[in-house]
Amino acid sequence: MERERTQKRLLKIVEISPVLKEIMLSSDGVEIKRKKIRGFLSEMLTATFEDDPKIPPLEWIMTRDAIGVFRNILSKRSERLAGYGLLAYVNDLLNGKDLKGVKKPAPGFLAELEHLFRGITGNTRIYSEKAPAFLKHEGQKAARLRSADLSRMNRTAQKFLDRYPCGLDKKIIRKRSVNKARILKHFGATEFEWDDWKWHTRHIIRGVETLSSLIKLTDEEYQAVKLAREYRIPFGITPYYLSLMDYEPGREKDYAVRAQVIPSLHYVEKLKELRERSEYSMDFMLERDTSPIEGITRRYPGIVILKPVLTCPQICVYCQRNWEIEDVHSSNAAISKDKLEKALKWIEDTPEIHEVLITGGDPLILSNAKIENMMYRLSRIKHVERIRIGTRTPVTLPQRITDSFVRDINHFHNPGKREVIIITHFEHPYEITPQAMAAVQKFRRYGMEVYNQLVYTINTSRRFEAVALRQKLRLIGVTPYYTFNTKGKEETDDYRVPIARLLQEQHEEARLIPGTVRTDEIVFNVPGLGKNYLRAVQHHDVISILPDGRRVYEFHPWEKKLFLADTYVYTDVSIYEYLKRLKAAGEDTAPYKTIWYYY
Ligand code: SF4
Repeated sequence: MERERTQKRLLKIVEISPVLKEIMLSSDGVEIKRKKIRGFLSEMLTATFEDDPKIPPLEWIMTRDAIGVFRNILSKRSERLAGYGLLAYVNDLLNGKDLKGVKKPAPGFLAELEHLFRGITGNTRIYSEKAPAFLKHEGQKAARLRSADLSRMNRTAQKFLDRYPCGLDKKIIRKRSVNKARILKHFGATEFEWDDWKWHTRHIIRGVETLSSLIKLTDEEYQAVKLAREYRIPFGITPYYLSLMDYEPGREKDYAVRAQVIPSLHYVEKLKELRERSEYSMDFMLERDTSPIEGITRRYPGIVILKPVLTCPQICVYCQRNWEIEDVHSSNAAISKDKLEKALKWIEDTPEIHEVLITGGDPLILSNAKIENMMYRLSRIKHVERIRIGTRTPVTLPQRITDSFVRDINHFHNPGKREVIIITHFEHPYEITPQAMAAVQKFRRYGMEVYNQLVYTINTSRRFEAVALRQKLRLIGVTPYYTFNTKGKEETDDYRVPIARLLQEQHEEARLIPGTVRTDEIVFNVPGLGKNYLRAVQHHDVISILPDGRRVYEFHPWEKKLFLADTYVYTDVSIYEYLKRLKAAGEDTAPYKTIWYYY
């Protein structure tokens, strides 16, 4: 029964192309079928070059892309890299007599296959409307019609943008002052103490009982935090960041803020399991293989990462360094003076290094004196022209950015000689507050640039959500810099977003805003190799679709045209499952329908 249902569904998919159906249902062996399908794809590709009327206008672009993907998937090299052959799998499902031992295809697999076949045959059904009216006219008439179309497009975008509340909205500011009063009352503290960043680090909320007395938690949130503490998974929230969370549960507006620090049960259980599995390396980014000396990571010719401290005022659930971090704001997380000195000496002895990113953890949890010393040492190294400070304190602890601190580090920002820049990490417009803006403006007043790195998680990936963030960031003086694909870490599966969604966001949403706002680059941080620019289609390939609906990608190293280097094979999250999760969170997934045609 089950087998028949699968076959029926598959038959419907292959019927999209009568030629493919004939090939797939023939009695030929898999290799003959492979050959015949390749021939068919070549003919289809030729048709796209010949301006064949069979393929509707513009569909030819998608046809060409889909053919490229299908050809890749059919290649023996791809099959070797993915460790599985899609053609033989589909052949078994369609023609096999005994399906025992053959994995059942997930709905995500069938959905991918259907869209691939639709793409190949110029049948995506994306263009439901007739050609726009302005194409039939010239001059001002055409311009007016086009202008009306553009306004319509903008109004549609605005409807999405209006869904995302910002911490600068008056209503939200009022709500947060009530939250602050509640937290201050709980700790018996004063406004004066609230403005002192050290008061916040002394009162980081770590226990579930304190947390649940300050905001209402769902049962799952309560359980997850309780277990995180039991399993010694770093957990903590600064009182300031807690004031950004709404009192009521339900995550109606504060979903991105809560999800940033309150782990899911899946995350907690999975992380515990992975830590116990000896063969699993938590070091997903292969930092151990890129660290020439303790405290330093090097993936590029002229840039190094200096890690003086391995903790933050609070830990982001998806943090790539969660395997190194012992606890939130733990006292022994700073590397020893001796090791820091050796790391600085290494930079001094490596004249090719022109740029140092001080990160960790969050280096701004160190004392002013320690930071100044480190900056002083770096400023004495002639070949270091740029010092970047990676910090999320403008978001989690803006009180840390005092006038005197900014004045002190500004000594090292010396135009024409050395630049000091700040790289921060806002995830959502709900995190942008008057306090965060004031922190950013302090750096800007001294001429220091502030850039943002966004990690694209399910909580920031709704239609136009990243656009809303970019627009507000620019208004407070922050330049969008990178948008990162979430790391392929199993414990963060709940957070991950398919690569296709990043591409869709860039092409259909970010593209609508001015270039001065959409300044960020979408990247995949390839473990051990560094950033892969996702926008450049020639830097990655889809090489397979697994029975569970996940795409397999092959990423090219950034230096591929300079040196011989390995490629990196990566299994993404299923588009189908991602859309399902969005739907479960109340999102209408119809406006995401073109996601399948991004590769
Ligand atoms: S701020 Fe950065 S280093 Fe700190 S927990 Fe978040 S992602 Fe990790």
